Amino acid sequence: MKFVADAHCDLLSYLQTVANASPLAKECRCSIPLLEQGGVFMQTTAIFTFTKPGSTQLAAGQVEKFISLLKNYPERVWFPSTPEQYAEVFFADRIALIPAIENASGFCEENEPIADGLKRLATMQTQLGRIFYISLTHHTENRFGGGNYTQVGLKEDGKRLLDFLAGKQIAVDLSHASDALAYDILTYLDREKLPLQVLASHSNFRTIHYHPRNLPDDLAIEIARRKGIVGLTWLKAYVGNSYTDLFRHFTYGCQLGVPMACGADLFYYLPEQLPQGVYFDRYSNASHYFVLNADMTEQNAEKAILENFFAKNLHKFIKKLWFSKD
Ligand SMILES: [Zn+2]
Repeated sequence: MKFVADAHCDLLSYLQTVANASPLAKECRCSIPLLEQGGVFMQTTAIFTFTKPGSTQLAAGQVEKFISLLKNYPERVWFPSTPEQYAEVFFADRIALIPAIENASGFCEENEPIADGLKRLATMQTQLGRIFYISLTHHTENRFGGGNYTQVGLKEDGKRLLDFLAGKQIAVDLSHASDALAYDILTYLDREKLPLQVLASHSNFRTIHYHPRNLPDDLAIEIARRKGIVGLTWLKAYVGNSYTDLFRHFTYGCQLGVPMACGADLFYYLPEQLPQGVYFDRYSNASHYFVLNADMTEQNAEKAILENFFAKNLHKFIKKLWFSKD
């Protein structure tokens, strides 16, 4: 049974940066076989780069990886490009891969004319077919604004990027925005009447577990008011002390009235790099979606609410973004 649509993983950066990487290797935690075992029918694959010189080459390499996956594994993954195909993703026997961009430094270096970066973004969109979302920053500050570990808001180049995105059917991801950047983006969208959809693709709730990467209540509520979604992540640092805290985030999101989705954020790392571990063993690779479903069902979560969380909210969001006529 396939039942999961997920809003964030780092399969592409793994394929690009790790020697002898394979989309079939378990070490990346979101390999094609693990996604299949987890019942995933739609997986967002982020093009992720840090903000550093050469970031655009790194992102260009990940675009190539995305295209290669579709070409080399046509029986196992696909890209739904028409409304008819998109309606089929629930039932297809292959996993729909959905491209997104985590950090705008992937298409624009810090020291080049912004017009060159926007042109590169347009080329990437043509190569990929469509793009689900873009987050302006990662953890740090860049030319567009402040990342989640800063207090910096929206910069002039960030405004130019938002202007450019209007009408491009690409959403703005607030997961890696500083609070100042997130509020500035929303204010700017309202002031300029830019019709952009917003989401937080992989973040939890700050009230349940304090971390700058988690959302303050008012921001989560504001995302919901704009018909956005919040993808819950499995990273221990954002979940809490126990895997059961993930249910507390889920319950809290329900109380706030926030439409939630899966945004596990599975990525490759060497144990010696992060000896304290990144995930709880119970939810540490894509096959564990079945475990999570069983655990949440045991917590007496309603079936319809779980279906929305595991797939429907994300499916609906992308449907509106890519295929809505208005
Ligand atoms: Zn991230």
